[in-house]
Amino acid sequence: MNAPLLPAAVADPAHVAARIEATVRGEIRALAAYPVAKAEGLIKLDAMENPYGLTAQLRALVATAAANAPLNRYPDGGGDAVKAALRRSLALPDAAGLVLGNGSDELLQLLTTLVARPGAAVLAPDPSFVMYRLCALYAGVRFVGVPLRADFTLDIDAMLETIANQKPALVWLAYPNNPTGNLFSASDVERIIRAAPGIVAVDEAYYAYAGSSFLPRVLEFANLIVVRTVSKIGLAGVRLGYAVAHPGWIAEIEKVRPPYNVNVLTQAVVPVLLEHGALLAEQAATTRQERERVAAALAALRRVTVFPTQANFVLIRVPDAQHWFATLRDAGILVKNVSAMHPLLANCLRITIGTPAENDALLAALSRYQ
Ligand SMILES: *Cc1c(COP(=O)(O)O)cnc(C)c1O
Repeated sequence: MNAPLLPAAVADPAHVAARIEATVRGEIRALAAYPVAKAEGLIKLDAMENPYGLTAQLRALVATAAANAPLNRYPDGGGDAVKAALRRSLALPDAAGLVLGNGSDELLQLLTTLVARPGAAVLAPDPSFVMYRLCALYAGVRFVGVPLRADFTLDIDAMLETIANQKPALVWLAYPNNPTGNLFSASDVERIIRAAPGIVAVDEAYYAYAGSSFLPRVLEFANLIVVRTVSKIGLAGVRLGYAVAHPGWIAEIEKVRPPYNVNVLTQAVVPVLLEHGALLAEQAATTRQERERVAAALAALRRVTVFPTQANFVLIRVPDAQHWFATLRDAGILVKNVSAMHPLLANCLRITIGTPAENDALLAALSRYQ
């Protein structure tokens, strides 16, 4: 081991703090870094991951692809192999433009950057994915949240009125929504696309678990961008997101994209994984079946309200979320307590659908607690 580097002198922490205060915007200093819960030894039902992993055969193919990846070189800035594989697997028409992100989180940031001129507003229903608000804060643009109804459906009148008043440059619609799990009405989404003066980004992170998608309609509208990720279908570790829209929009996003944002290993293995996409599709089908089983079993418990879901997680309301969260943790199960995220989410837990055995453990722990 190398000896630690010891500087001759260490700056006074108070001086460091003073410089930070003088330099970093107050709204950034007020933030806490995104908390990622430690899950060692726990059944992990907190982050909407696919619980299954790959077959031995597919792992061997991935190993070969990774072994042959040119790690001494910068990645292909265009991500051509990944794009070709995505176009094949999604049957995208040539007329549709495609851009890649380091996870879709990066694309959310790039889209926000694109519209961040003085006075611009970004709008999203609330509660929804927290990154919409955070990206606006990072870029220094105004964020306007429009409350969902108490049943988490869109308040379409409030949405249309706020769009008319605020003229947002960017509207986010998570379809299905996170953390609520429900799918907004497609006709409401269409009304929003038609009413919005700027971009409407339909974020389909959970498309594999939902009965509806705007991807087949992406070329129908001049202002629609569909954003997706491979994270929730089983590849959260590779960090790959993509956006599909008219090529004009894609050309603008390309101008704010870091040139080497998708790394060599991801570019090497994703085409192999997409070629064997049937495995991930089967796993998603199992998760959809398990979701129905888990939702029905949760609904049969006393004191539990289950909200409709078309994602790979289910939102429930319980009498005391903090206590139920802790009880599950003591039983070795990690879920997400979303209670503090929004008043409408009071006493709500978000539970990712796991393997049948993990789901059985969850249901057993909750029924013991009844
Ligand atoms: C998980 C999630 C994302 C981010 O996915 P990454 O590709 O892993 O960055 C984006 N949008 C929504 C709605 C999500 O739930």
